[in-house]
Amino acid sequence: MIKTVGILGAGQLARMLAQAGQPMGLEFVFLDPAPDACAAGFGEHICAGWDDEAALKKLGRASDVVTFDFENVPESSASLIESLCPVYPPPRALYKSQDRLREKTMMQELGIPVAAFHPVSSRPDLIAAVEKIDLPCVLKTRRFGYDGKGQAVLRFQEDMERAWQRLGDYELICENYVSFQAECSIIAARGRDGLTVYWPLTRNLHRDGILAISMAPAFDQALQGRAETLIKRLLDHLEYTGVMALELFLVDGELLANEFAPRVHNSGHWTIDGARTSQFENHLRAICGLPLGDTGNTSAAVMFNLLGEMPDYARQQATEVHPAEGLHWHDYQKTPRAGRKIGHVTVTADSESGLKARAAQLAAELGVAAEMNFEMMKSSEEV
Ligand code: AMP
Repeated sequence: MIKTVGILGAGQLARMLAQAGQPMGLEFVFLDPAPDACAAGFGEHICAGWDDEAALKKLGRASDVVTFDFENVPESSASLIESLCPVYPPPRALYKSQDRLREKTMMQELGIPVAAFHPVSSRPDLIAAVEKIDLPCVLKTRRFGYDGKGQAVLRFQEDMERAWQRLGDYELICENYVSFQAECSIIAARGRDGLTVYWPLTRNLHRDGILAISMAPAFDQALQGRAETLIKRLLDHLEYTGVMALELFLVDGELLANEFAPRVHNSGHWTIDGARTSQFENHLRAICGLPLGDTGNTSAAVMFNLLGEMPDYARQQATEVHPAEGLHWHDYQKTPRAGRKIGHVTVTADSESGLKARAAQLAAELGVAAEMNFEMMKSSEEV
């Protein structure tokens, strides 16, 4: 019987895992170097570096199973804990996801369509890559990139030198710039027994490389089936246990994979309020060897990320949630800082028209993404 779950990382994802796990009778212990990590209040907090051997062993000994909320935890740290207790998802998934070249190569080998890409380690490599791929393209650091950081879009020849000046100290990958009709993500949970469940394909809108809005369900069954096939290849190949998210571009009715996250994902936050079982509960169910819960929508849902600081009215509502009104505020209790993800709000409604109206109103209030029209259940051709 699993009683204590250890988590490498104590950010908002760990916090939401703990919030889902406490009603299941689970206890939590976190390892995170940040003294003010926002999950810390939900269990024991081992405040130490990711490579502190004594601290990693302490986490392993205190836990019945260990997981992570952050994909840049060194694979060696996860593997060290594995000698003391099971670690899910498998550290191999961390290893693959930590380097865009490794990740894209694996996807290509598995027959998962990706944009054309080339590794870049020198100026001549960059010139050769741009010649092969053609402009526009995107130059990205292979490691430690997130939320659009460490990236440059190259539209003209002269952008090459500027991008090289900024990023040339790193190992890079150059990708074809994808003119997508929409971005989406498929999130799945695979149990220890290999059984896999999928949430409805979620439509995502990014602002400056950061997720701004997610909505589900937003696509037809054919596209859902296609996305499930793609992520299943990754899950089975990695002999995966836990929740994984695969970010995809929709281009002319086809899906191209961008990257996968070996953890619960920001685009799945709507599942807390809009699905029968949230991604957080199913991640815990998977790693604890419990049967997985139903992933269907209880309501169509639109999630807005809140960056910088919580709006005042949200602060008031956060203490008195009004599910009847279909606004579900989540405050991660983080210190406000420009651009920092400090919370999210999910809108749910019984009817599609009600949801659209409420989401549009909230978008206006929050000053985000006026072009998002909150059309649900569109077929892929219509998007
Ligand atoms: P990433 O860090 O790879 O998730 O990229 C962050 C965001 O940048 C994505 O969600 C897209 O909006 C955009 N982006 C990344 N790669 C490409 C690409 N090859 N073509 C067009 N847009 C991209």
